[in-house]
This record gives sequence, C-alpha cells and structure tokens, in this order.
Amino acid sequence: MNRKRKLLTGGEDPHCSSQNTEEKMSLNPNNYKLSDRTGRLTAYDLQPTTVAAGSETREFLLKVIDVLLDFVKSTNDRNEKILDFHHPEDMKRLLDLEIPDRAVTLQQLIEDCATTLKYGVKTGHPHFFNQLSCGLDLVSMAGEWLTATANTNMFTYEIAPVFILMENVVLTKMREIIGWNGGDSILAPGGSISNLYAFLAARHKMFPGYKERGASALPGQLVMFTSDQCHYSIKSCSSVCGLGTDNCVMVPSDENGRMITKELERLIVERKQKGHVPFFVNATAGTTVLGAFDPLNEVADICQRHNCWMHVDAAWGGGLLLSRKYRHPRLSGVERADSVTWNPHKLMGALLQCSTIHFKEDGLLISCNQMSAEYLFMTDKQYDISYDTGDKVIQCGRHNDIFKLWLQWRSKGTEGFERQQDRLMDLTKYQVKRIREQSERFHLIMEPECVNVSFWYVPKRLRGVPHDSKKEQELAKICPIIKGRMMQKGSLMVGYQPDDRRPNFFRSIISSAAVTEQDVDFMLDEIHRLGDDL
Ligand SMILES: *Cc1c(COP(=O)(O)O)cnc(C)c1O
Repeated sequence: MNRKRKLLTGGEDPHCSSQNTEEKMSLNPNNYKLSDRTGRLTAYDLQPTTVAAGSETREFLLKVIDVLLDFVKSTNDRNEKILDFHHPEDMKRLLDLEIPDRAVTLQQLIEDCATTLKYGVKTGHPHFFNQLSCGLDLVSMAGEWLTATANTNMFTYEIAPVFILMENVVLTKMREIIGWNGGDSILAPGGSISNLYAFLAARHKMFPGYKERGASALPGQLVMFTSDQCHYSIKSCSSVCGLGTDNCVMVPSDENGRMITKELERLIVERKQKGHVPFFVNATAGTTVLGAFDPLNEVADICQRHNCWMHVDAAWGGGLLLSRKYRHPRLSGVERADSVTWNPHKLMGALLQCSTIHFKEDGLLISCNQMSAEYLFMTDKQYDISYDTGDKVIQCGRHNDIFKLWLQWRSKGTEGFERQQDRLMDLTKYQVKRIREQSERFHLIMEPECVNVSFWYVPKRLRGVPHDSKKEQELAKICPIIKGRMMQKGSLMVGYQPDDRRPNFFRSIISSAAVTEQDVDFMLDEIHRLGDDL
C-alpha cells in the first residue's frame, strides 16, 4: 500500500507536478451562488412541499443545470484535467459525505453537486481511452435528463405508454439489423444480465420442465461452452444457474483471441462421451480485452450438428452491425444465432446504462420468465396487454433505458450512426499506423479487429533490445507506473492488464465520438513523456 501511494503521490516527480491545479479546475463549488434568500432555504421550502415556491424551485434547478453545463464544458475542454486524483483516505477528507440529522440548505446542496463533479472522472474527455463505455453524447444525455424527470417504471404500458412503444420500435429495428424477421428483445441492466437472459431462455427452450420442476426436469449434467477470452459474465451464468463453473468449458483461443472452433467441437464430443448434456455455446463478437471476433459461421455449424443453442455476446462489437464497411467478416453469421447481446452503451456511445438482448424466436422470454403477478399484470385490463413487458424479465421494476437511445438514434439517423462506427475504426487504424511509425517506442502486440489496441511502451533503456520474454517482463512492470503517473497528472487515461499469454500491456479504447487524430497522437506522445525515463 505504502509503495503504491508513493508511486502515485510523487510530489517531487517532474512528471506529476500539478501546477496551477486549483485556479484551473472548473466546478469550484464557490462559483455557484443562489440568491441569498433562496440559498438559505431547504428542500421543504420547494415544491412539492411548498406549492407556491415556483420561482425558488426554478432557481434551484437552473443552478443545478449550471453546474451540469460547466461539467459538459470542461469535459470537452482538452486543457482540463480528466480527473483530480486523490487516494481514498485523502478523498474522504476533501468530501463531506455525512448524512446529517437536519436538512442542509439549498446552497449546500448546490455546492455538493459541484464538488461531486469536480472530483469525478470525465469519461467523456477526449483523452479518456480507458473503458469500453466512454464519450458524452449530449443528445443521449438530454434523453437521460428527460428520463429522470419522467421518473416512471417500464413494467406496464399503463404507466409508460410512450416509452414502451419506443422500446418496441427500436428493438425491432435492432433485430432487423441483426438480420431477423420477428423475434423478441428486451433491455436489461447491462450485458452481463443480457447474457443471463440468453442462458435462461436457452435452458427453457430445451428443457421447458425446468421452470416448474427445477433440476429434476433435466436429462443430465448440462454443460455450456465459451472461449477462454469471453467476458466473465458467461462463466457467472454457470455458477448462478446451478451448472457450476466446472461445467462452463473454456475453449482455447488462437493468438489473436478468436475461439478455435475445432477445439470447441472436440470438447463438446468429449463431454457427450462422459454422458453430459452440452446445450449452450457462447460466441463473443468483440472480446473485452483484445476485441477479437469468434468465427460465427463455424460456431453456428457446430451448434447445428450438436443441437446447441447459439448465443452471440456482441455487447462490445455489436455497434459494428451498423457498419457496412466493418460488419463483414467480423459479424458474418450473427443472423444464425438464437440470441444476441448488444450494448448500445459501448460502441454506440449511448449513456450508461443501455444494454439489449435479442431472441430469434418470439414468445420465449415471456414463457420462461412469466410469473403473472396479479397486482401488476391483470389479464382483464382494457388495453392490449401484450404491451405489458414487465413479465418477460426476472426483475420487477425496470429503469427506462430506451428514451436516450431513441433520441440519440433520431439525432444521427442510421447513416450517422454508421459513420460514427466507421470513424472509430478509422481512428484505430490511424493509431496503429502511428504506432508502427514509432516502432522503437511502441510495440504493437497484434493487428486489432476492433477499436481495442494492445501495445507496450518501450522506454529509452530498452530500445533496440531484442524482444523476448525477459523484455516483456520489463515492459510489463512499466505499465502500472505510467498509469499511476497519468492519473496523478490527470492528463490521460489508458487501461492495462495481463492476459493468459502475456504480462501487463496497454489496451487503449477509441469508442468516444470526441476523439480526433490529434487526440490519438496526444495519447502516444503523453505515454512517451511519462515513461521515457523508466
Ligand atoms: C462489457 C461486456 C459485457 C458486460 O456488459 P455490462 O454492461 O458491463 O454488464 C459482456 N460481454 C462483453 C463481451 C463485454 O465487453
């Protein structure tokens, strides 16, 4: 812990000097003053408690919006830091997080809002390359504001008529883009839960007695298959749903992270010979770390031969379905899947959260998950109750994740969304080209298939040294140090991690529409500035 602290605090370290931080930081809580009169009030003096307080209520909310707009402005300002890093213990001292016994003033609440954003991470900053979800699409954000204000639940048409119809339209369009006619879909709280829905529907389709009779309805030990590069939520299904992780078989992947389908078939046969029941295969379209695409047509052939459900986890790569230029060969064969997970909150830049799960067959979701709660899903309602989607899911209440996507999609048109996906891929190509042009400083690990770029930075002392596993160990040690320095300085965020084949390496992500060629150059130059002496 101490060693880590030193690394990140490094006051004397010339790379980490935080010169003129305070003056430069926007969102200074002292800059947001309500009128003296309103500032002294509390929430009890606003609507709805005080009905007549229309103008005070408005003043308070407009001030909150002021704070939000300043955050948006600084997010888009390349001279602003991405974050103002503090260790947790120091952060606790900087923030007043206590829940008081008595109401605080409205002025205090405004300052709380500013402070919260001041010390947060600007994931929409053009120098944030750290996560699969980045960018701050302003139309999607406006949609999220509206959603928060409408504050309704998605379980019945009764209380969300407009949003339910929007869900229908957008999900139908997404299924058409996958290549299906008909089918069914739902929005879920994240790709992990979307994958779980696929698993549940697959088991229900193949063993419909499970819903009532549980494991006794199964013909034997169920087994599922996925590549060793898959998202961990797939393995989690096997544990959550009673198979046990030993029965989630990890199929080896090739050098580039794609499932080796010959191995998939061999492992299915091996389990069959043991008397087990292989029933579910997950193919990943865009793996989380390397951005690899499993060969979907080959997986589909194997699923057909062995009567397995085929799920495609395109949580990450799904956005490329919109691109005629990049869809093939990456997602060729996706239409042969039984289910597809696709997260608009990743490549498409919809605000968190926005995840979808799609099924080729209609009716499975409802038949699998329906519990017919009589207090919500009355069958004698005076409207078409097929619009009550709430009984298709294992949640009760469901957050409205559709409005921001619907509004964003309209703001770009499908063509605009396609151009956005193409642009991200083109920028990635530019990054690869720049890395190649600076091959003494950067070691590209593989030609990327998606916007994930895996590379090492080579500091001065290791340039010209032949690349072998000993050098990789050295390059790996440098990653966390550079990461610490970039966070301390607040200038850049790029992730690193080890995988099964190699120790720590950088993995940058370009999934923000804010990024330009200059930002890509900045990323590489900044890593060089921060790491040259290591
Ligand atoms: C991100 C990701 C998930 C999980 O999605 P969440 O929305 O974070 O739950 C699943 N699969 C893949 C391939 C992913 O990249």
